[in-house]
Amino acid sequence: MVKLELKVDFDPVKRHVNISGIMMAFHCHHYNTNLFQTLADIEYVDGLEILRKATENVVHAQFTQIYKDQGGISFADKMSLGEQLYKAFGFGILSLGDLKEDGGSFSSPSSHLVKGWLSKFGKRKETLCSYTCGFVAGIMAAATGNPTGTYKVKETQCMVTGASGCQFEVSK
Ligand SMILES: [Zn+2]
Repeated sequence: MVKLELKVDFDPVKRHVNISGIMMAFHCHHYNTNLFQTLADIEYVDGLEILRKATENVVHAQFTQIYKDQGGISFADKMSLGEQLYKAFGFGILSLGDLKEDGGSFSSPSSHLVKGWLSKFGKRKETLCSYTCGFVAGIMAAATGNPTGTYKVKETQCMVTGASGCQFEVSK
């Protein structure tokens, strides 16, 4: 397994953090769950889809650079780096080991967002993890040298509904 080594730049004056050339902002579960609730409650646009697309775009740009910095590593190692970064940023745990270049399925047995949502709002009828869908769509496209929009990631089961883990399907 490739060990994650990130280019992290911190500007102590402006208090900016850049990771592999992309500025990052870190929020607590209060901010994130309220953001998701606001997006989910908008009736005239699909707010969670907007967040998914924005996530995919940023993650694609970031991982294109991260994979370039790593040199010629395998697709499996690229997925491993995706798991490690997702975990290092506190988003939760991803199990991407079964994904192939044309798609497949993956799971998330632990989610910062879902745990925060359950503690603040309780269970929800619909799946929630659009950020995770965008994250994996972004790293899959970056890992295979494709543009954003190449992969469709659908959450088929979510812990926010009471399921034991979040489950996802990936297709081209
Ligand atoms: Zn979920």
